[in-house]
Amino acid sequence: AFLLNLLSVFLQTILVGDSGVGKTSLLVQFDQGKFIPGSFSATVGIGFTNKVVTVDDVKVKLQIWDTAGQERFRSVTHAYYRDAHALLLLYDITSRTSFDNIRAWLTEIHEYAQSDVVIMLLGNKADMSSDRAIRRDEGERLAKEHSVPFMETSAKTGVNVELAFTAVAKDLKHRA
Ligand code: GDP
Ligand code: MG
Repeated sequence: AFLLNLLSVFLQTILVGDSGVGKTSLLVQFDQGKFIPGSFSATVGIGFTNKVVTVDDVKVKLQIWDTAGQERFRSVTHAYYRDAHALLLLYDITSRTSFDNIRAWLTEIHEYAQSDVVIMLLGNKADMSSDRAIRRDEGERLAKEHSVPFMETSAKTGVNVELAFTAVAKDLKHRA
């Protein structure tokens, strides 16, 4: 009954990471299966999107929140973290800065989020291999250090986008 209860509500899933890493694009790709080139407004996100992911015949409802204009540390409200069931933490594989900032994001997450929150690290813009600044194994090592799963994604080509959200849903289901 507990499992049924938890899975009957939309689980709060939040996209976090520096401005420009592709949070909005990732959500658009997952929701609409397309890439809309050009920058979305840095300060106006698309709010949230409800998606249902089926894991082993069980429907896991995700309410996915796109953060925007809150990317500076300490400005994503604490309530936002506290209510999160899952956090997708993104960096851009072409940006060393966005990767270096992951540690600070994780510190903040550990400070304010529930201790059992599901976290996944994503290295986005995997299609931009010629501009790559962060090797895949650097992402893997950082993820391992923090005991979180890791994937490289591309909001442009769609590679691993569905898989990333499905992995989060799977993890949520197992913890339900
Ligand atoms: P946000 O600030 O984290 O929401 O990032 P946006 O989704 O607005 O993306 C920032 C810029 O990166 C935009 O110009 C996007 O078109 C571009 N972008 C986002 N994801 C990808 C990706 O996977 N591949 C490529 N090549 N560009 C991307
Ligand atoms: Mg955005």
